[in-house]
Amino acid sequence: MRHSGDTQYYYMGENNLEVYLDNAATTRPYDAVINETARVMREIYANPSSMHALGKAAEDFLCACRNTVAQSMGADEGELIFTAGGTEADNLAIFGYCEANKRRGNKIITTKTEHPAVLEAFSVLEDRGFHAIYLDVDEQGTPDLAQLKNELDENTILVSMMAVNNETGAILPIAEVGAMLDHSRTALHVDAVQGYGKIPLHVKKLGIDLMSVASHKIHGPRGVGALYVRKGVRIKPLLAGGKQEHALRAGTENLPGIAGFAEAVRIRTENMAQDETAVALLKERLLDGLNKAGANYLVNSPQTASPYVLNLSFEGIKSEVLLHVLESKGISVSTGSACNSAKNRLSYVLKAMGFSDRRVDGAVRLSFSAQNTPEEMDYVAQVLAKEAALLQKIMKR
Ligand SMILES: *Cc1c(COP(=O)(O)O)cnc(C)c1O
Repeated sequence: MRHSGDTQYYYMGENNLEVYLDNAATTRPYDAVINETARVMREIYANPSSMHALGKAAEDFLCACRNTVAQSMGADEGELIFTAGGTEADNLAIFGYCEANKRRGNKIITTKTEHPAVLEAFSVLEDRGFHAIYLDVDEQGTPDLAQLKNELDENTILVSMMAVNNETGAILPIAEVGAMLDHSRTALHVDAVQGYGKIPLHVKKLGIDLMSVASHKIHGPRGVGALYVRKGVRIKPLLAGGKQEHALRAGTENLPGIAGFAEAVRIRTENMAQDETAVALLKERLLDGLNKAGANYLVNSPQTASPYVLNLSFEGIKSEVLLHVLESKGISVSTGSACNSAKNRLSYVLKAMGFSDRRVDGAVRLSFSAQNTPEEMDYVAQVLAKEAALLQKIMKR
């Protein structure tokens, strides 16, 4: 069905609801973000590196945006580099740091449940002669810190651990790891793309040396992100070129995107606590609805997970089938990581948590935002319970 006056096609549910529950993949930009991005394209179009007055105005504006994002994480303006998104921030942190510090050691440690932007970077570094360790996780998605302690030695230059897992919402013990490390020897990189703007992340309090964030996961524009680099930590740039971004990220700055990002950060900072409460209520309402409808499911997200992500398994069903049935009812969900290939369709994150293939095969990820409503939760619970039960019945035969 088509929204009147709209150029896009939408699948509409029976109740004419269009329910977007894939906020861990990307979020709908705030109206204020769209307005600010357009305003900057129109009004602040000069190059911040230009010497004339318009260039200087653009540079001042860039500096203000950098301050906004830096302050939101307890960082200094000189410690923040804008990038073209979360993947680039992760790559700059891992390649940039390891390249600059390889003389001090070649051991690098991460977990089995990181985003591909981290895992694939580690894999490339293994090809370049680095010794990589992938920490096991338990059923809660918590990495084995005893294993980490055993692995840490004078040869270890980097530990990379995500703040919040994108498939399950599991919150990882960043503060504990930050306190375990001798930061003069081993840097802590945190992929905070799913946590930033949703849970408080103060780089100094948590002992973080490098932290990646992305704008489009918090209702900002796509293709913008940032990397925090603690003062005194050395990294090498990935790109050769101009001296933008403290000479660590060459290329003319994406000022409209950065402006929209800063606007999203302002809104998230103001609303973080109340939105978390609202989203937790939405999640509870959905689960209540499923229980009342007698749905047969398992919760894969840990009890203590961020409420923004809820990973459920409907055993006996292939999650893709369920995804397409929900899609036909106007509900957008995900099977887990959007980047998983057809060959490796079973989630490596859920498998690392020790769940059976049958359970992982039937896993769907529902990810929320404060833009969702209680009515949507009632609708999703009712549709999900009914359709999953039908599929489970068919598959049994
Ligand atoms: C989305 C995501 C990324 C990648 O960010 P992009 O801006 O899409 O490149 C990295 N890490 C995590 C945990 C993510 O959820």
